[in-house]
Amino acid sequence: MQAFEAANHYFDQAARLLDLSDNIRTLLITPDREVRVEVVIEMDSGRLGNFLGYRVQHDNSRGPFKGGLRYHPAVDDDEARGLASLMTWKTAVVDVPFGGAKGGVNCDPTILSKGELERLTRRFTQKIHDVIGPVKDIPAPDMGTDAQVMAWIMNEYSKYSGFNPAVVTGKPVELHGSIGRESATGFGVALAVREMLGRTKRTVGGSTVAVQGFGNVGSHAARFLAKDGARIVAVADAHGGIQNPDGIDVEALASHVASTRKVGGFEGARPCSNEDVLLSDVDVLIPAALGGVFDKATAEAVRARMIVEGANGPTWPEADDVFNARGIPVVPDILANAGGVIVSYFEWVQNLQNFRWPLEQVRREQEQKMVDAFHDIFDISERMKLPMRTAAFYRAIARVGRAHALAGI
Ligand code: GLU
Repeated sequence: MQAFEAANHYFDQAARLLDLSDNIRTLLITPDREVRVEVVIEMDSGRLGNFLGYRVQHDNSRGPFKGGLRYHPAVDDDEARGLASLMTWKTAVVDVPFGGAKGGVNCDPTILSKGELERLTRRFTQKIHDVIGPVKDIPAPDMGTDAQVMAWIMNEYSKYSGFNPAVVTGKPVELHGSIGRESATGFGVALAVREMLGRTKRTVGGSTVAVQGFGNVGSHAARFLAKDGARIVAVADAHGGIQNPDGIDVEALASHVASTRKVGGFEGARPCSNEDVLLSDVDVLIPAALGGVFDKATAEAVRARMIVEGANGPTWPEADDVFNARGIPVVPDILANAGGVIVSYFEWVQNLQNFRWPLEQVRREQEQKMVDAFHDIFDISERMKLPMRTAAFYRAIARVGRAHALAGI
């Protein structure tokens, strides 16, 4: 099974409850537009580098297409399609006025120089500039891209369309970005953990947490949770993991990672494997790296009491069935990691108004949206006796379907 098929599997689980006609089902799952472009740049060596770039625009019935750009060796058309579809449901779950899109470039950004990355980003923007725009499709950071990449896109796009910072979100704060955007996804994951624990009369303080992935999402989620008194007992990145049953000093770990680029070698914990982290005996397990980390066998071996999905698509359907059968609640990606796109929405609003919000306002409004969406989905799941993922898809499909019905074909 691949990413798009997995997203559609979850769609169908919820769509069955909504009694959609075949035509509406097809309308809702089929991407609106798919663009694949060749991105050729001059490498530092003087040779040419040939890359493939993608932008899949899945649905825009509720507002402009919205979603990240990923620079990673696994980027392809199927992955972009699956992730674009998840964006449609994510923006609908948290009720921000956007549709869903995703894209990226198949490359390994860790071996590209800054100059190569800039040339790649500018060339890619040249190739897709006519399908993006502040009221058309608004890219944002995802794996392998950051505020600097967004700044280059904004600058390159302005050569075609003039000053238009709302064409991308997740920009540097000094260049029309929103305060609080960079940490927004991790902050949202921490809020999802807090609310999920709260619904079972537990608190973040005193809970144990394992985090797989220590990039933008995992590191900020761990920091917010540690600040609230959680014990972060295991952390993994692409190179391996570390454990400390007494709790890892997350701020010290973040400094270690800033200088060495990996969690391995951190003095305040002992080394372990990535799998040890996924199979930790903890209250909360947060996958916050690549998709597809939970297959059936891993799901059967997981010892965590709950899973909160910081990553997009970490759970294959067969693993999801195992979690459901074992009674391990999963706060799904389209709810748990929606904090990023929520603050992207705030950034877009600020850009359109040429107005800047203070951090307290960004955090307060993000918290309100996350908490409202969380309890909405939790309540549906209780009332209809559904896993939270199905409840979230149910809510999202109803919203997107209604928008199509009201707008008319
Ligand atoms: N890439 C992020 C996500 O998967 C953010 C998307 C956005 O802000 O548009 O949700």
